[in-house]
Amino acid sequence: MATSLIIFLLATVFCLFAGLIRSFDSLDSTVINESDLTHRINALLPQTQCGKCQYDGCQPYARAIARGKADINRCPPGGDESIEHIAALLGRDSLPLHTETVAEKQSMLALIDEELCIGCVKCIQACPVDAILGAAKQIHTVIERSCTGCELCIAPCPVDCISMTEVNVEIKKWVWTKPPSLHELSP
Ligand code: SF4
Ligand code: SF4
Ligand code: SF4
Repeated sequence: MATSLIIFLLATVFCLFAGLIRSFDSLDSTVINESDLTHRINALLPQTQCGKCQYDGCQPYARAIARGKADINRCPPGGDESIEHIAALLGRDSLPLHTETVAEKQSMLALIDEELCIGCVKCIQACPVDAILGAAKQIHTVIERSCTGCELCIAPCPVDCISMTEVNVEIKKWVWTKPPSLHELSP
């Protein structure tokens, strides 16, 4: 009788232990899958880090998509191309760019009024893509080919000498469409 009881108790402990390990395993794979998916989605975003998607950058936005907490159509710099690639990755239908952000898709460029610039370097610190040239107490200027039009430099400027202007697409500013990444090409 005592032997049966011990065997029963051992079997119960074993089952509980096995169940615990299984649940850890599935938790692990959920975390890994989400992390992998975030990485793959992030690779399809333009890395402008402009915050137009209402997230702190491309990676947080990618993570929100991976968790099903954000639509795939919130990135104006990425536009239709990014949306289509993300939709294909997730096996979903593509969407039009979110209506409130469509207007922002127009290419814009920051311009600094050099007469007013006091060289405080606050715009340089705010620019996520290092598109501003300058140094303390020196006139600053925007590197046109690097500016993504994110407008993040405007608010920090204490003398309001930065404005946005529309960019006309011309041969010097035209760029090739970004080619697909390796994992998009793999079957
Ligand atoms: S709007 Fe697009 S480019 Fe800008 S931070 Fe969000 S995902 Fe990145
Ligand atoms: S210069 Fe201004 S608008 Fe252009 S990328 Fe930098 S922060 Fe954005
Ligand atoms: S934030 Fe304005 S004033 Fe300061 S360096 Fe930039 S452009 Fe000049």
